[in-house]
Amino acid sequence: MEKILIVDDSLVQAAQLKSILESDYDVTVAQTAEDGLRLAGGEDFSLILLDVVMPGMDGFTLLKKLQEEIVTQSIPVILITSLSDVTSEQRGLLLGAVDYITKPFNSLIVQARVNTHIKLYKYRLQSERWSMTDQLTGIANRRRYEQYSIAKWGEAARLQVPLSICMIDIDRFKVYNDTFGHPAGDKVITAVAQTAAAHFQRNTDFFARYGGEEFVGLILGGSSEQVFEHLKKIRQVVKDLRIPHDPAVSEWVTISVGGVTTVPEVGSSYDFYLKIADTMLYDAKKQGRNRVVWTNERMQQLTEE
Ligand code: GH3
Ligand code: MG
Ligand code: MG
Repeated sequence: MEKILIVDDSLVQAAQLKSILESDYDVTVAQTAEDGLRLAGGEDFSLILLDVVMPGMDGFTLLKKLQEEIVTQSIPVILITSLSDVTSEQRGLLLGAVDYITKPFNSLIVQARVNTHIKLYKYRLQSERWSMTDQLTGIANRRRYEQYSIAKWGEAARLQVPLSICMIDIDRFKVYNDTFGHPAGDKVITAVAQTAAAHFQRNTDFFARYGGEEFVGLILGGSSEQVFEHLKKIRQVVKDLRIPHDPAVSEWVTISVGGVTTVPEVGSSYDFYLKIADTMLYDAKKQGRNRVVWTNERMQQLTEE
């Protein structure tokens, strides 16, 4: 059931709205704008019904605040105004409310407007999700990665915690395609993606398809030694899938991994460290593949024998 938040200081009015909507939606009521703001940031509401006239913080101020916060800015807001209040309507719509409903409430109109905006919101979320997902593997795509990496880099710099960047590349994959065919190759890319992604599950982890048979992972927190050990495990888990490779190059499909762990300086360049991770990957290939090569900001390399 989709969740709706009603922010209204009048208990009677809120109860009326709730009774109109509660058979189809999970409805929460906040009696002050402050409570509304707090609730909106904490749960995933699909719609907010907002009274414009409230003591203390009014509906317009709350609307502005909701739009300033990343977590709440995409939630559609419908204003509750009185029939004659054209000025409030105008002001609210200009501020970014998607619609308004007027008092006294007409149940059918309220339901219809709410249904429409919730449907639109769901479509929008779905299409945003779709545009950020790699179609072959179902994991995050390059576009999502570009957005996320910049945000994470800034966060790590602000919090002064280490960020690890790792590049993963399937070994001798051109040979695999040439031997087993492109569709079989696609299945391998998917299996490797999903296996590796399962080890980037903390909410401070991120994993995406970088392109072709290459992946990129980000881990917030943890020392270079810890992350190196973690990636060694992932490398092993992929090998343990026991996907037969062309025996001319390898018994099983394997991956090479390169990475770097650093506490970002404010204003330092993410791309500089991404290049270092890529250089480590190149070293892993040169050293014989199926291995992890890692480094920290002091350029102390960790390698597998
Ligand atoms: P290395 O161990 O040095 O990484 O060798 P490699 O053969 O894996 O590297 P190379 O970059 O030469 O080849 C990558 C191959 O990956 C070439 C391309 O055919 C294949 N590839 C890239 N994207 C896809 C894809 O979406 N599906 C399939 N099946 N193959 C892909
Ligand atoms: Mg490769
Ligand atoms: Mg490659």
